[in-house]
Amino acid sequence: MAFDRYGRRINYLRISLTDHCNLRCVYCMPEDIRFQPNAELMQDAEILRLVRLFVGLGFVKFRLTGGEPTVRAGVVELVRAMASVPGVRSLSITTNGILFSRLAGPLAQAGLQRVNFSLDTLDPFKFQSMTRRGEIEDVWEGIAAAERAGLAPIKINSVVMRYYNLQDVVELARLTIEHPWQVRFIEMMPFASSTDFWLDQGVTAEQIKTVIESEYGALESLNDGNLDGEARLFRIPKSCGEIGFIATVSQPFCASCTRVRLTADGRLRLCLLREKEVDLLRPMRAGASDQELRHLIQQGIWEKPWGHQLAKGEIPLNRAMSQIGG
Ligand code: SAM
Ligand code: SF4
Repeated sequence: MAFDRYGRRINYLRISLTDHCNLRCVYCMPEDIRFQPNAELMQDAEILRLVRLFVGLGFVKFRLTGGEPTVRAGVVELVRAMASVPGVRSLSITTNGILFSRLAGPLAQAGLQRVNFSLDTLDPFKFQSMTRRGEIEDVWEGIAAAERAGLAPIKINSVVMRYYNLQDVVELARLTIEHPWQVRFIEMMPFASSTDFWLDQGVTAEQIKTVIESEYGALESLNDGNLDGEARLFRIPKSCGEIGFIATVSQPFCASCTRVRLTADGRLRLCLLREKEVDLLRPMRAGASDQELRHLIQQGIWEKPWGHQLAKGEIPLNRAMSQIGG
């Protein structure tokens, strides 16, 4: 098992399959971003080797992310191979949904269990301006395909920005009245390329909740007010879905953190909002043994930072969000 020096058991790995993306969300990456050449990214066999090593260290939960994980060539076969690694108990994906209508069925058959979609507005024009290129219809088709494929429960993640979509949270929350979905509102975080946006547009979960309650009245608290993963859950009375708030900035949940991340170029990122990383790909390509790689992982996890230091003005600037894997 892997523990950090604060006694937190770490057993959840988010793997970025690529830094490439078919959208350019304003809060995530600059419009003219240059993606890394494929040769610098982990190849399938390298990812699978690391997955086996993490399982050997007690990891049970894996989420595929990016960039946009569905643009990776051969993603279905990779998921099939990962799902068949003994010890992988939970395998899910986070996607913008653009390509999901044709991938949902094959991914579910390959062993994918759940999917989180990112959708920040229901307005097709605003969707285009926030993603700088997307067609919202493609996302709806992706969500419908995921439901048909049994990838439940569907979760929808919305990053909220004051002057783009703060008022849109009312319509997004309305989705939960008729759909058994969990719509989760995420506080925007600052990274390289999004710091100015964050300073100008960041809003807190409490402010988002106030906008929703001004339309639907007081939300009912679920789960006795305790965190469910990283979200605090609520419900519009009598609705069939749930509303979650992920208050990473204003109410950090570092004490209950169980996760680390693997960037597409094979670095172990110990905390989303801290720059510290451990390179696993270079040693692997230089011939490191399983034993040596295991040691690097364990040592890195032991040194996982307690949490972010945004309140002290420490912003992680070494990568954009899309290069870390949200
Ligand atoms: N492309 C996929 C997607 O958009 O779902 C997966 C990768 S994306 C980096 C993962 C999540 O990070 C998405 O839900 C996205 O909205 C969120 N995200 C990106 N930039 C963010 C930021 N600056 N603050 C908070 N969340 C952010
Ligand atoms: Fe691409 Fe996801 Fe970043 Fe949007 S949030 S640009 S879809 S990686």
